[in-house]
Amino acid sequence: MRTIGLLGGMSWESTVTYYKVINETVRARRGGLASAKVVLHSVDFSEIVAMQTAGRWDLAAAALGDAAQGLAKAGADCVLICTNTMHLVADAVERAAGVPLIHIVDATGAALKAAGVKRPLLLATRYTMEQPFYAERLAANFGLEPMIPDDAERGIVHTVIFDELCQGVVEPASRAAYREIIARHADRGADAVILGCTEIGLLINSADTQLPVFDSTLLHAAAAVDFALNEQPAAIGLDGAA
Ligand code: GLU
Repeated sequence: MRTIGLLGGMSWESTVTYYKVINETVRARRGGLASAKVVLHSVDFSEIVAMQTAGRWDLAAAALGDAAQGLAKAGADCVLICTNTMHLVADAVERAAGVPLIHIVDATGAALKAAGVKRPLLLATRYTMEQPFYAERLAANFGLEPMIPDDAERGIVHTVIFDELCQGVVEPASRAAYREIIARHADRGADAVILGCTEIGLLINSADTQLPVFDSTLLHAAAAVDFALNEQPAAIGLDGAA
């Protein structure tokens, strides 16, 4: 079995999900006492957020690149950045690591394409919704036409992520607000929902909408297990369950 390197702590609320789902998936596929070989580097998220808000993606790339290099030195055969947003610096992180980076957009896009959807609504941080790195990769690699919430909606989605979910707070009122945004976009032609932030699965799941839900965290974790066990992608359920 290959060793999975996790760049986590962004936030640790979702890194917990990665660790749990990766191990559950290895147990489901291998049985018995089998568990994943994992090396984890967990950052102080407040330092990363300070770089994000200052627009210092160069500093973030350097910090995560150093951490990725450390994971490879510690025996990781691949690296996962356990946040959608920080894939903004994925190329620099992969170069520094010197081992393959399993890209969250590719894991998510492959599942969307396999399901035959075309116009998924992207729910994520403002960085992920507003900067081209995410939607353009979905379009270029998977032929998708992601729908992006409007400015006011993006504000709601972003604030709930940082002020609540990343701090371990799950509010029913925020779930209702997300459901409204999803319903509005379903009316406008969205045919799926991407949980494009690794904490959104703490708030929303497939019970909250008629649309198929694609949870980037679960899909990314499943892709890591495919790599670790050297297996073809499993038949992955719409919300990422293998
Ligand atoms: N975990 C979130 C994401 O998937 C947000 C945290 C961050 O800004 O890295 O984008």
